[in-house]
Order: sequence, then structure tokens, then C-alpha cells
Amino acid sequence: MPELTISDVIEIDEPVPFVGKHLINGEWISGSETLERVSPSHGLVVSISAKGTASETENAIAAARSAFESDSWSGLSGKQRATTLLKVADLIDANVERIAAQETLESGKPIAQSRGEVGGASDLWRYAASLARTGHGDSHNSLGEDMLGIVVKEPVGVVSIITPWNFPFWILSQKLPFALAAGCTVIVKPSEMTPSSTVMLGELLLEAGLPAGVCNIVLGHGEPVGSLLAAHKEVDMVSFTGSTIVGKLITQACSNTLKKVALELGGKNPQVIFPDADLESAADAVVFGVYFNVGQCCNSSSRIIVHEDIADTFVQRVIELSKQVKFGDPMNPDTQVGAIVTDEHNTKIHEYVQAAIEAGAKLELGGERLPIDGLGNQFYQPTVLSGVTPDMDIAREEVFGPVLSVLTFRTLNQAITMVNDSVFGLSAGVWSENVHTCIEFSRKVEAGTVWTNTWMDGYPELTFGGVKQSGQGREIGRYGYEEFLKVKSILMRIGRSRTPWVEQRA
Ligand code: NAD
Repeated sequence: MPELTISDVIEIDEPVPFVGKHLINGEWISGSETLERVSPSHGLVVSISAKGTASETENAIAAARSAFESDSWSGLSGKQRATTLLKVADLIDANVERIAAQETLESGKPIAQSRGEVGGASDLWRYAASLARTGHGDSHNSLGEDMLGIVVKEPVGVVSIITPWNFPFWILSQKLPFALAAGCTVIVKPSEMTPSSTVMLGELLLEAGLPAGVCNIVLGHGEPVGSLLAAHKEVDMVSFTGSTIVGKLITQACSNTLKKVALELGGKNPQVIFPDADLESAADAVVFGVYFNVGQCCNSSSRIIVHEDIADTFVQRVIELSKQVKFGDPMNPDTQVGAIVTDEHNTKIHEYVQAAIEAGAKLELGGERLPIDGLGNQFYQPTVLSGVTPDMDIAREEVFGPVLSVLTFRTLNQAITMVNDSVFGLSAGVWSENVHTCIEFSRKVEAGTVWTNTWMDGYPELTFGGVKQSGQGREIGRYGYEEFLKVKSILMRIGRSRTPWVEQRA
């Protein structure tokens, strides 16, 4: 095994499994069936959740529909909605430790990152609260003295929110407070692998006084819960984050009713490194970009495109830093990289690495599972592959693991072509001290977000989303809020000056 930095295993008491129920019309409902989640790092049962059926999903949709029609939420003023969202934000802050610990046990991510994810999410709720009060339409007072035009924005209606396992609390908070700020009612389906933090948030919503039926939660699998939430005629919009393959299924299911669909999907996000860049900072950002959340991150920078003149030395620096990143027990607060979400996924990561080597890539570091004494085998070594060419699967497909592919370039145009030679377009990054290089790159690459001389910074104010097969629609920021609104034009004739269409008989 290469010389890596492995953090100490922390002794923990065997966790009492969290019991997750559906939240339907303000009531907690035990499922007729349940499913268990085993911690990827410790191999212990950490939650037992209701496994949703079609009829439970129907009940949740009916509750959301009836809450929407009753105006118990959409009829409130923005100030009233904001007051509830701000209470939720305060409750999140007061419950970070409990939610984060459960999220780490279910997902395998380091506890420090779970704390950051949950603690940081309250700011999304506060920002959404500000939009509930300040959102507005347009008025047109220049249509002539006999006409006033008003564009009003109304809640889309009943929204299904379907989320993945990699950032369960954060991704829910990128959607739910914005949908609620707009006046929508919702049904949430978290991933079957990480359902508990969503249930805990449901408890906080009730404590904050959200009216019954405004936010419903159905736990369980894509079939039948997720697909029904997408296809149902009483649902007006689906907001989905997950894999591109399931995103396509959801789009098909939505086509029956032509409901609105917003998709946040996969990525194959490149960082391009020029010789004039701050190479020490770039190397650190590359290591952060590929190992954060064990590479199980839509924004993972799983491929780097490095200028030929500096490629060898840059890769050596990335390897040195990779060996210093602390892998291991997610419950240790010092750990930076935890466990892989499932054993099957670990096998898939390894198969990608093997296939890349067979295709001619050079293994510079890692390339094997990482057994941790006392915790088992569901970890993967930090892995660096050089000599990757654009045609290899490892350069084109989302691996979703701690695996970095290194490609090289000579000119800016060549680098831009390589960035855009992908079905994905989520994010991209450029490292150069030359502002012209950074601006030309930012303008020409096909991506929803471009980072220059940084990686994966984000703010509630700045919208997020992908192009091409990375998705459609936007989250957070003002644009994310607008996704949950529909637009209506109202034309008002002033006075009685309308010219008759029918010629009057004398
Ligand atoms: P996934 O697509 O397997 O599952 C996502 C959710 O969809 C889960 O709740 C799942 O139960 C549900 N689902 C499965 N089949 C369904 C169906 N037929 N109909 C409706 N719902 C169904 O994704 P995952 O493995 O949980 O998450 C990883 C993926 O998510 C990666 O591809 C990653 O890039 C993507 N992701 C994207 C973003 C982004 O913002 N662009 C963020 C995080 C993750």
C-alpha cells in the first residue's frame, strides 16, 4: 500500500437505529414495510425506515394538493412565510450535532463535513426567507394611457422533490426552502440510503409551525415512490437531483402530464491548469476537488487538463498532497475522506480504474480498496491516473470516487475543446494569472458554473445548475426561487376607450 495518511479509529457506542416514518398531512405514519440502512464505515444498522408504497405516496400527494388548494400556505404573506423559514433556520442551527452524526453514519462522510453541510444549510433557509419577502413581478406603465400591464408570479403548485444520498441535507435545503418561499406545497422523497436527516428536518418543520400537508415526506425506493411522484397528475413540478440516467426516466414520466421538471444531474468537471498559475494553490484545489466527499460529488473535479510543460511536476505535487489527506474513520473529526457509500459502488469504482489501466493509462497512486483496521473494507485509496486520453471511459464518465484522471494540453483553444468534449456541463475551472485567459475560458466553456483560481466555492446568492446532460433549471439564488413560480400577464384597460371589434349597425 502507498504511504497514506490514515486517521485513528474512534471508539463509538453501538448506535440505536433511527426510526424514520413518513410525514403525511402533519402526521407521522409507520410504513407497512421497513428498510434498514447499514453504516458504510461501521457495518452497523443505523436506521430503520418506512418503505413507501404506492398508496402511501398517493396519500402524501393528496395531502399536498389539498394544502395547496386551501391557501393555508400559498395564501400567506411573504412576511408570514419568511417568519416560518427563519424559525426553521434557527432550529437547524440548534440541531446540527444530532443531524450531522446520523448523516455520517448513513453516508460514510466525515463528521466534520456533515457538520459543515447541516450547519451551512441554515443560511440557505435564511436566504430563501429573504426572497419570500422581496420576490416580485413587473409592471408596464408605458403601453399607452388606456392600458396598464402587470406580470405577477404565482406558486407553481404541488412540487415533488427527489434527492440523492451524497449531500442529503444540503441538496434538500437547496430546494425545499425556495419552494416554500414561493408558496408551493411539497412531497419529499430522500434517497433510501440516507433518509434520516430529511425526517429530522420534517420534525423541525412541524416545530416551526409549518401547516399540516405543506411538506410531506415519503421514504422508500425509486419504485414505486419516486416514479409515482414524477408521473402523478396532481403534481405540478418535479425537482430532482441524482444520476443522469434516472433524470431521463423522470423526464419521460413527466412527459405524460407535461409538468415542469428541474434536473440537477451528473458531471465530469475539469480543472485546466496553465503554467503561469499559482501552482501550489491549484494542486491543493485539485486534491480538494477530487477527494471531497470521497469523490462522490456532482462537482467532483475528476479530470484535470494540465499544460504539457508543467504536467509532470504538477502531478508529482498532487501525489504528495494526496498522501497527506486524512482518509479513514468518518467519526474522527480530523478525517477528511470517509467511506464509499456501498460495497457495490466500491467495486464499480475499482472496475473503472482497472479498465483505464487496460486502456493505457498509467497508475501513479492508489488503485485499490483501502482496508481500515476495525472498520472494514468499504474505503478506496486516493487514486491518480496519468496518460489519460479523451477517448477513455475514465475521461468521459462519472466515476463518483476518489479517482483523478490527468490529461494534457498545449493551447487555450485545445483546452476549451477538451473541456467541451463531454455530454456533461455542470462545472469547470481554470487556473491562470492572466485575466484574458480566465475570461476567454469562462466565456467559451459549456458549464453552469465556472471557477477561476478557485474550486467549489458557493453562495446562496449565486445560482447553480448544469447544461447539456448535467441538467436543466437552476437552484438557489434568485433564479432558483423563480423555478418554483409561474408567470401570469394581466392586462388592464383603463377607462372605457376600447375600440369595438364588431362594426355597429347604425
Ligand atoms: P440516483 O439517480 O440513483 O437516485 C436519486 C434519487 O432518485 C433517489 O432518491 C432514488 O431513490 C430516486 N430514484 C431512483 N429511481 C427513480 C425513478 N425511476 N423515478 C424516480 N426517482 C427515482 O442518484 P444517487 O446515486 O442517489 O446520487 C448520485 C448522483 O446524483 C450522481 O450522478 C451525481 O452526480 C448526482 N448529483 C447531482 C447533483 C447536482 O447538483 N447536479 C448533486 C448531487 C448529486
